[in-house]
Amino acid sequence: MAIATVNPATGQTLRTFQPYPPDAVEQRLARAEQTFAEYRLTDFEYRARLMRRAAELLDVDQETIAKLMTTEMGKPLTAARAEAAKCAKAMRWYADRAPALLADEHPLPEDVADSGAARAWVRYRPLGVVLAVMPWNFPLWQVIRFAAPALMAGNVGLLKHASNVPQTAVYLEDLFRGAGFPEGCFQTLLIDSRAVEGVLRDPRVAAATLTGSEGAGRSVAAVAGDEVKKTVLELGGSDPFVVLPSADVAAAAAKAVTARVQNNGQSCIAAKRFIVHTAVYEEFKAAFTARMAALRVGDPMAENTEVGPLATQQGREELTELVADALALGARVEAQAQLPTELGEGWYYPPTVLSGITDQMRIHHEEAFGPVATLYRAEDLADAVRLANDSPFGLSSNVWTTDPAEQERFVRDIQAGGVFFNGMTASHPALPFGGVRRSGYGRELSAHGIREFCNTTTVWVA
Ligand code: NDP
Repeated sequence: MAIATVNPATGQTLRTFQPYPPDAVEQRLARAEQTFAEYRLTDFEYRARLMRRAAELLDVDQETIAKLMTTEMGKPLTAARAEAAKCAKAMRWYADRAPALLADEHPLPEDVADSGAARAWVRYRPLGVVLAVMPWNFPLWQVIRFAAPALMAGNVGLLKHASNVPQTAVYLEDLFRGAGFPEGCFQTLLIDSRAVEGVLRDPRVAAATLTGSEGAGRSVAAVAGDEVKKTVLELGGSDPFVVLPSADVAAAAAKAVTARVQNNGQSCIAAKRFIVHTAVYEEFKAAFTARMAALRVGDPMAENTEVGPLATQQGREELTELVADALALGARVEAQAQLPTELGEGWYYPPTVLSGITDQMRIHHEEAFGPVATLYRAEDLADAVRLANDSPFGLSSNVWTTDPAEQERFVRDIQAGGVFFNGMTASHPALPFGGVRRSGYGRELSAHGIREFCNTTTVWVA
């Protein structure tokens, strides 16, 4: 893919970038290594001051960066503003909390007495240069949720952003530099994905984090495995949204729409499979389909737009094929929103609800990265759990029930990295984020996230 800003609302190429030549990449790797040698010795107070300054700058820039994100990948402007605000919040959270999250740990003296130690403790030290391979769907947030903890821990970052969000990628480097972080603490590499392997194999790079598709994850993890380098992978998801009879069905249906179409349906943690107990299936279906059909699709820059275009032409083609495959095998369209006629050449896709899904259909196993919901009828609780787990993915899950025993059943049995009751999955700085199975491994955010790229060092003194 060319490194370019192509407006998804019009299909127009607005700006194209040349990939960095090898010597420019080399220069940045050298700078990253040199910077780490000194930056790792700085204290939390210093790092926190810079991180808070970066958050302030981001707040000041909110409208500008929101418009840039919307221009590059088509999310509604209102959502882009919220994304920028969320990033500033996470930066402040890590600035405040990093000292406690990475404080030395002292095991109980009686626990280590027979190790021969007079004293023993654990120190969390930074790993070094971390390569972040990031996607376009939350072009600020995906990067900040890596960068804020990584920089607070004393690591330095190299960003290989998705090729369709180059201006946001450049903005991120400018943001950290503008806040006073030493040059080399956070650098953007405008490179093709084929150049990632060389960077990852470079001995100056200690580890990598990737958010994106399974294919990209597999490829980066294979190279990192070969080099014995730590990775965190946050890949796709096909999260279930389960509705059981004790739920407030109207509230569930309203939230289900948001959970499905947030970010124009292009979120890894969007609810994608709607699994409804037979006792409330018709009631839920009526409310959900009515709301999905009524969604306002339109220009993402307009304040009242609820769903904008998909980010790429290829993304729309893939979604179209996924739905065509399901329809050819017997799926039914229960509802579809209207696309306004004046939309023009943008990569719009109408919010759609499908039922009659079988395991022969690709959409049953694959991630629908766009505003398409699949509806399943569950016979009972056990059937709901079975359907929820009937996916290769395991990112998060949403379950609507007020029954504590049913909640406990899901906490025990759901094969996912999270379960959100009577609400929808959302990331939060204080809560770990990540999945199991094909959704990847490792965790972002919270104490778990900041420790992923630390050398957990045992100190033992006789
Ligand atoms: P990709 O996984 O291709 O892109 C994510 C990042 O990985 C980009 O920076 C991309 O660079 C890079 N990349 C891609 N292939 C490789 C590789 N072989 N080695 C190293 N880096 C690589 O996502 P797409 O944009 O193509 O989206 C495809 C699908 O991925 C979606 O339909 C969705 O299912 C899933 N996805 C999931 C996301 C999530 O949040 N979990 C986010 C985005 C996509 P470049 O842009 O230059 O190719």
